[in-house]
Amino acid sequence: MKNKNTILWIEAFFAAISMWILFTVEYYPERAHTALRIYVFAMLLITLGMVIAVRYYQSQHSSVDIDRICEMVRHIDVPAFIWSNDLTTMYTNEAMDELLGIAESEDPGDIDVLLTNFFHFLGIAPRNAADVLSGHSYYRGIEDEDGNTRYISWTTSLLKHGSRASLYFSIGFETTDLVETQQDLNDTLRELSKSESRYALSMKLSGIGILLCESNRDEYYVSDEAMKFLGISENRITFSEFRKRLHPEDRLIFDDYLNKVRYSTPQRNSTKPRTLELRIRPNNSGQYTWYSYHYHENLANKDGMPIIGGALIDISVEKAKDATIERLAFLDEITEIANRNKLMHDGEETFRICRAMGTYCWILVLDIDRFHIINDSYGYENGDKILKQFAHVLCKYTAAGGFAARVSADNFAMVLHDYSDYGDDELPGRTLEHIRADLQGLSIGEFANLSLSCSAGFARIPTDGNSFHEVLEHAEFALAMGKGELAYVMGYDAQMHREIVSQGEMEKQLATAIRNHYLQLYYQPKYDLKRHCIMGAEALIRWITPDGNMISPNVFIPIAEKTGMISDISHFVLVEAVRQNAEWQKAGLSPIVMSINFASGDFYQANICDTVGYELERRGLESKWLELELTERLALGDINYTVQQMNALRDMGILLAMDDFGTGYSSLSYIQLLPLTLLKLDRSFIIEIETDTVAQEIVSAVIKIAKSMNIETIAEGVEYQGQSDLLARMGCDYIQGYLYGKPMTAADFRVRLIENTPGYQG
Ligand code: C2E
Ligand code: MG
Ligand code: MG
Repeated sequence: MKNKNTILWIEAFFAAISMWILFTVEYYPERAHTALRIYVFAMLLITLGMVIAVRYYQSQHSSVDIDRICEMVRHIDVPAFIWSNDLTTMYTNEAMDELLGIAESEDPGDIDVLLTNFFHFLGIAPRNAADVLSGHSYYRGIEDEDGNTRYISWTTSLLKHGSRASLYFSIGFETTDLVETQQDLNDTLRELSKSESRYALSMKLSGIGILLCESNRDEYYVSDEAMKFLGISENRITFSEFRKRLHPEDRLIFDDYLNKVRYSTPQRNSTKPRTLELRIRPNNSGQYTWYSYHYHENLANKDGMPIIGGALIDISVEKAKDATIERLAFLDEITEIANRNKLMHDGEETFRICRAMGTYCWILVLDIDRFHIINDSYGYENGDKILKQFAHVLCKYTAAGGFAARVSADNFAMVLHDYSDYGDDELPGRTLEHIRADLQGLSIGEFANLSLSCSAGFARIPTDGNSFHEVLEHAEFALAMGKGELAYVMGYDAQMHREIVSQGEMEKQLATAIRNHYLQLYYQPKYDLKRHCIMGAEALIRWITPDGNMISPNVFIPIAEKTGMISDISHFVLVEAVRQNAEWQKAGLSPIVMSINFASGDFYQANICDTVGYELERRGLESKWLELELTERLALGDINYTVQQMNALRDMGILLAMDDFGTGYSSLSYIQLLPLTLLKLDRSFIIEIETDTVAQEIVSAVIKIAKSMNIETIAEGVEYQGQSDLLARMGCDYIQGYLYGKPMTAADFRVRLIENTPGYQG
């Protein structure tokens, strides 16, 4: 450092002046005055010099302090330097020289240039350097010789304040690692915020709401989307609050889920996502929305803590679609109650529950009596109205947990829950009474003349079968047992059914019955209302089991039709009926027309004419004594072929009757196409003919129309004289029914024929 002896020089000057004055006053007193003046002048000069010296001293620094600091700085191994803000002073240590790239021998005259460059290097204007650097840290990247950026944080402190220039000490600490870590952190944060915003956007676009929490907490973290679903304004919701927003029926499902996921061991790689369907409403009022809740049963976080939560996806649109599909698939269009599909679906469920819980239900199958009359006489539109009202009545009596369904045409089914502890066997019967009473109430206004009733068969769930399907079949079986009877009601009788057991068993039994001649023909007289005598017989088949039970054809004929065994049966009937009729004729009894029932399958056999012709011929029976009864179902087949077959039979002279007329689909205009000789008015028309004016009108009209077409008429199921008289007045040709005889054995019928043959000698 320069200027360090200035004070010594001033002190020496002051001492010399003082010595000179003392010498002058001592040895030249006359010059004392002048010496005093000179002294005063000198003192002034000295004071001025002192002031200048002090000022100078103040402006400079103690060379000793600076040297000491410089010494200290030399030993610091981080970059440090002492500098003056007038850019005239600079002391740098080795680390700093290295940073600046200065050779040790560098000319100190370049200090100002060096400092200026350095400050430029730091990005600071030199005149601001003191302001920028003093008092706080400042760091800046510096590129080293290898091209790597080094970050140094500079801390600067004021060493000495000067009026013209101040002295500063700056020390730099390398923060490259710190800065790089910071930068990495910033990059990560940036990435994170990017991915978070990406995540938030994805969630928003996908409409997925997320619920998450660790299982030791009783609340969910809720994503923005889920907040909307739940109608909350914070990102948190407690389980109990969440539960409150669920539909009451779904709360148990949620509890069950919570228990499962909370108390099971977490598995890190749980790959099986599960789904719950929950109804949630945002607040305590308003509509529920369906959500699908996807979750992993045992998902664990990094610490092995189970995570509870999942994704909520709005599935209300899908649910609405499902409901529409279900509506279409499970709803009967006319009555708007369940259809057969729904009956089967819900019935299976009911069966399963009853079995599991040890409870009972009843299945009732119902059939509206003479529904065809309503359709024929009031038109299909009114028929539909009645179906609707009937459905309505059934729904009224299904009670909680039960339901009603339309199975087909006028066939309905009801599932009734039996809430008694004892098994209420009377429930189906009682319910039916209520239904019938309500049906009476429907016979008003436009339906005033109609007396509506229904028949039913019932069976108990789950004891009357091994599945709902089977129980239903058994109830239908019970209904079929009373086919044709009005207001019939019958419970399933396992005893009776046991003989027939299953269809397979039944088939086997039927095959055995055919082989072993357990099938037998009964004959029911047909009475001529004009000639007052028996004019014919209908051969009706009976299955007599070895223990003497008689099985109704209503039970086994449909099975025989399904399995194809009907052709064997029909062949047996044809052979036996023709043989029997020929035998009676040969015995001299009044000749009668023998009717046999033909299933549509038989009728479509190509060789039917040959078969029938062969039987007539070999028994020597004229074809006019044989009548084939066909049902309206025939008309559903190939009409051209039907007409062709019937014409061929008619050409042979065989009589053709339309059986059960009025129960099916055919109309009179349709009948015109067929070469019929007889119309058999179904028993359902006859039952209430005496009181039901509509039935009267229909029967009367049908008889007239048939007459105009040269078709004779016979009424089935005549049980009372009144019915017979009325039919006679209406011009009906024949009657058949219990009034003139039930179906009977050949031996019994022979007796009737003898009575019917005037002058028969035997
Ligand atoms: P369907 O041909 O209409 O026969 C008349 C049914 O009415 C018979 O029942 C007869 O017993 C019953 N019936 C007759 N008069 C009265 C009456 O006054 N009151 C009551 N309540 N019922 C009466 P069944 O013998 O039980 O036969 C039922 C049905 O089975 C027959 O109806 C017919 O469709 C079918 N069927 C009977 N035998 C044969 C057959 O040999 N072959 C075929 N393919 N079907 C047959
Ligand atoms: Mg018949
Ligand atoms: Mg009939």
